[in-house]
Amino acid sequence: MEKIGKRFTGKVAIITASTQGIGFSIAERLGLEGASVVISSRKQKNVDEAVEKLKSKGIEVFGVPCHVSNAQQRKNLIDSTVKKYGKIDVVISNAAANPTVNAILDTQESVLDKLWDINVKASILLLQDAAPHLTNRSSVVFISSITAFQPPASMGMYGVTKTALLGLTKALSTEMAPNTRVNCVAPGFVPTRFADFITSNESVRKDLEEKAALKRLGTTEDMAAATAFLASDDASYITGETLVVAGGLPSRL
Ligand code: NAP
Repeated sequence: MEKIGKRFTGKVAIITASTQGIGFSIAERLGLEGASVVISSRKQKNVDEAVEKLKSKGIEVFGVPCHVSNAQQRKNLIDSTVKKYGKIDVVISNAAANPTVNAILDTQESVLDKLWDINVKASILLLQDAAPHLTNRSSVVFISSITAFQPPASMGMYGVTKTALLGLTKALSTEMAPNTRVNCVAPGFVPTRFADFITSNESVRKDLEEKAALKRLGTTEDMAAATAFLASDDASYITGETLVVAGGLPSRL
């Protein structure tokens, strides 16, 4: 990251689920490029630790605990951002849950509800709260998944919620135009806590590396670079699009 630019100077960016993994790297990237970043996740301790890490890199950062499916905490995230920084230029909706490996037809209703609530509905409700404060050159990026295109058996319903984000990107890109661009990143497999059940299994990991044209898993920095591009003015004529960042894993034409 030695040669990164300063595309976000003067911008305010909210990133959900950003105290580790992909969300943290996105916050770091936007922050190093000059943004004031607002990070959040469920646990205050994780928020405090991530704030310190980002501050130690010279980043202007504000941390707010926010479980994305808690209405009061979402409202507080938006209100406290506006109180501190006065506006919102970028929203990165990154939180997700993957609570089951069951087949879709064997998934309990409560689990279906949780997947919908966290992976799709919370993103919409957060944007409802954020919308009045978005600047007239603002940008939203959803974090979907390669599984959106072909949901695997063990991640079926999770994949379907990620497919929904592709549709949401299209729908909101029209609804929020012309002042707000809405795009999406579909990561391949990235070794994080979230993906540990896949990437820590050596034979599964090797298989995924082999299937990718670039013969490796993704990094959180790979995802951050793509997200920063879509959120930045470099993508000023791009809206309603999904960028697949998966090392050449099969997705779509
Ligand atoms: P991760 O490293 O496990 O990080 C998850 C982050 O989310 C943590 O900061 C966690 O902190 C926070 N979090 C979890 N549940 C939350 C909730 N309900 N509300 C708010 N914050 C919450 O995960 P990751 O791999 O970076 O995943 C991030 C996104 O990338 C997800 O949307 C995931 O679907 C997507 N993705 C990941 C991969 C992959 O291979 N890793 C591939 C495709 C897509 P707390 O514990 O403090 O809440």
